[in-house]
Amino acid sequence: MKYEFYKINLMKNPEYTYIGYTTNFTKRKYQHKKNLTDISKINFPLYKTINENGGWENVYIGLLEYGEYDNLKDVYIRERELIDFHKSTLNGHLPSKIDINYSDNPKEYKAKWFQDYKNNNPDEYNEKVKKDNVMRKEYKAKWHQENKERLNIKRKELVRCDICNIELAKYSLWHHNKSKSHIKNILP
Ligand SMILES: [Zn+2]
Repeated sequence: MKYEFYKINLMKNPEYTYIGYTTNFTKRKYQHKKNLTDISKINFPLYKTINENGGWENVYIGLLEYGEYDNLKDVYIRERELIDFHKSTLNGHLPSKIDINYSDNPKEYKAKWFQDYKNNNPDEYNEKVKKDNVMRKEYKAKWHQENKERLNIKRKELVRCDICNIELAKYSLWHHNKSKSHIKNILP
């Protein structure tokens, strides 16, 4: 099954990021928006932070990658890797469905689970990483081919960074938000 991994950025608050996965990116984006006003969800770290920082207007959601996964365990592992890699701050609950019997500290439990997996199955893990890299490259190439036209239009889409007082291509916003020049402008 195809799983898509995405990242949520708060455009004016680059310190907040969230990594998620879905089988339907378009639908998931809409769901996130809806959850901002869902009384049962507004206390989740993600929605609380968004609501306290400019709401939906401040949200940028971008697809990171997608791939074929035949079991959820691999999806959680990949999510965990992306959370670590992007130093995601709003993933209050880390991949949670690996094992229902985890302790009072799910964060610690999952970190340990992931480490154990790496230690106990080094060959499997390395093989998987290698396979993933190849697969990701192939998917990326294929995706770009399939979305060429749409991407060309998207490339021309501009957004404003009020902090730096410049206009820039929307697709470059993630990088911009992490750039030295932008960070320098945030600091007093
Ligand atoms: Zn900026």
